[in-house]
Amino acid sequence: MSNLNTEMIEKYRNNFLKEVTANVEEGEWVKMCMQCGVCSGSCPFGPHWDHPPQELFMMIRAGKREEVLTSSSMWMCTSCYNCIVRCPRGLPITHIMHGLAHYADRLGMAPKEQPTMKFAHKFWDNIVKNGRVNELKLSLGVYFMNGIAEGIKTSLKMQAVGLGMYKAKRLNPMEFFGGHTVKDKSGMQAIIEKAKEIEEAKIKKFEG
Ligand code: SF4
Ligand code: SF4
Repeated sequence: MSNLNTEMIEKYRNNFLKEVTANVEEGEWVKMCMQCGVCSGSCPFGPHWDHPPQELFMMIRAGKREEVLTSSSMWMCTSCYNCIVRCPRGLPITHIMHGLAHYADRLGMAPKEQPTMKFAHKFWDNIVKNGRVNELKLSLGVYFMNGIAEGIKTSLKMQAVGLGMYKAKRLNPMEFFGGHTVKDKSGMQAIIEKAKEIEEAKIKKFEG
């Protein structure tokens, strides 16, 4: 169990709603949910998940911390915004779903093999280096994230797409040896460091 997870359990004992309110992006909205079910009924994918949004919000209020944070449901949200435009209470449901996923990841509670999470990590590691996505390295990283054999198989399967991207100048083989960067790379990295600092300070504030 991660240190942060242990600290949060201690800090918010028996009050998962308070924990979500304090630590999840837009989490303060969860208490406004009136359980009408419109979001779940509007979500094109919710019926196929373990817990559609309305159910997750009900579970948060019921203190089902483990079940919520280890769920893969919020990782499946495709940001289609159907739920947001229909919620009678105006909850930013999409953002709460992503906020919950991010928080579960920070605590080390997200399902280990969740493919969206693996992609999110690869995307972040890729973009944070130069401030721009290196499409070639990102594609290869994703294709090979489950081993060499699967990587080769996926690369062969996707070669027509790769060729199309190359012709459209979206994939440059030379990017393998470097990649394009933002003009002020050190400035961009300083901004990220500052954001991390603010995030850490926020956690400490809630710990204190
Ligand atoms: S539509 Fe809004 S109020 Fe209704 S269950 Fe979903 S989040 Fe709650
Ligand atoms: S934004 Fe996410 S939770 Fe909302 S309807 Fe679309 S897929 Fe479902």
